[in-house]
Amino acid sequence: MNKYVESIYNGVVERDPLQKTFHQAVYEVLENITPAIEKYPVFQEHRILERMVEPERIVQFRVPWKDKDGVIQVNRGYRVQYNSAIGPYKGGFRFHPTVVLGMMKFLGFEQTFKNSLTGLPMGGGKGGSDFDPKGKTDAEVESFCTSFMMEMYRHIGQFVDVPAGDIGVGAREIGYLYGAYRKITNVHGTCVLTGKGPTYGGSLIRPQATGYGNVYFCQEMLKTRGEEMKGKTVTVSGSGNVAQYAAEKCLELGAKVVTMSDSDGCIYVPDGITHEQWEYIMELKNVKRGRIKEFAEKYNVEYVDNGRPWGYKCDVALPCATQNELDGKDAQKLVDNGVIAVGEGANMPTTLEGINIFLENKILYSPGKASNAGGVATSGLEMAQNSQRYFWSAEEVDEKLHSIMVGIHRASYDTAKLFEDPGNYVLGANIAGFLKVANAMVAMGYLA
Ligand code: NAP
Repeated sequence: MNKYVESIYNGVVERDPLQKTFHQAVYEVLENITPAIEKYPVFQEHRILERMVEPERIVQFRVPWKDKDGVIQVNRGYRVQYNSAIGPYKGGFRFHPTVVLGMMKFLGFEQTFKNSLTGLPMGGGKGGSDFDPKGKTDAEVESFCTSFMMEMYRHIGQFVDVPAGDIGVGAREIGYLYGAYRKITNVHGTCVLTGKGPTYGGSLIRPQATGYGNVYFCQEMLKTRGEEMKGKTVTVSGSGNVAQYAAEKCLELGAKVVTMSDSDGCIYVPDGITHEQWEYIMELKNVKRGRIKEFAEKYNVEYVDNGRPWGYKCDVALPCATQNELDGKDAQKLVDNGVIAVGEGANMPTTLEGINIFLENKILYSPGKASNAGGVATSGLEMAQNSQRYFWSAEEVDEKLHSIMVGIHRASYDTAKLFEDPGNYVLGANIAGFLKVANAMVAMGYLA
């Protein structure tokens, strides 16, 4: 980082000293794009960084709802409309008790570069609430989602801001949110939310897209060293949407998935999860809404309370749960155990220390903004289908998703090479994502 870029970072910390995850995300991007800032003085001249570290708009509001006993509860809702230089704001809603403004800003910031990398015309945004859907009845979740949309509807729209799901916002929540939007506005068919069910405008393959896309990206990284997924031992963290479909794609490609986890603990299956066991996890997590521990009890395999998967031997690691779930010590354990590739399905799951260990050891390491972009890319395909009043088959969507992931890999790989750091996907992805947004902002003048 040079003095100018460092001064931008220091300004961010001074302005919002408590927003640690936002600082971390900004630091990673600024550090990696410094060579581009030095190579193209036009960006400093146009104060692009000063503008980029500040979201275009933040909406914060109260969400009153009624619990199962008829008692009014109040949560806090957010939408960070981060950057719309290349298209309408686009990014998910997260419902989780840890949600705070700094987290929304970090996710919106990351989303801006990720969306740019997909090649589709989508800006960056993120939103959510500190509401916890876990353990709530369907009626409680419906009450919350309806109340959340009563405020949110006025801030979104197909040409303005198109949210989707994220942690705690799956098919059920999107259904209630879209149902409320339709009732409030009397509008149906414009793409105001993605991740919709297939019966009311959703795209096939959207649920699978982030997990599948992460594995497609890993395949491309492995190819650069003459390797393939077949026969590889894979550790996956999480057992939610991204983890589930990353695991499924690994099985389909002949890899062995030995771990999955949730926020309570981790299972270890030395012979690899079978397809039947994967189906059990789908039922356990998506229908019964149970804990991963129940898998260990049913199949009599190892379960570690509060455990993480990074101490087990593997060729490929896929962190698919949450931010900062893989630290420096975990990264060192993975390297010592011979990991070849790490593909981030989650957003910012690896700490800065962990990233540096992967880079120093020349591990094929992809940052989430590149390898988990398949979800938002397929959301972009959902928007395209809704605009056409048409839908594509699962095979067509999967083929487009695959070619987008190959394109993101190519852009990240080639950009890293151009900036004389071949194989550094962090540098490549950050610069490739940044350049498109920055050039658009320069072209549109100082208000952009
Ligand atoms: P999800 O379905 O809610 O699943 C999240 C998983 O992570 C669950 O297994 C959850 O366990 C676990 N988890 C959450 N917090 C944890 C913690 N503090 N420690 C350990 N495990 C934790 O969410 P998702 O959609 O799969 O998203 C996972 C990650 O991918 C997030 O970083 C998200 O931003 C990112 N992402 C998602 C998409 C998408 O399309 N869904 C796209 C791009 C990026 P519990 O059930 O115990 O909470």
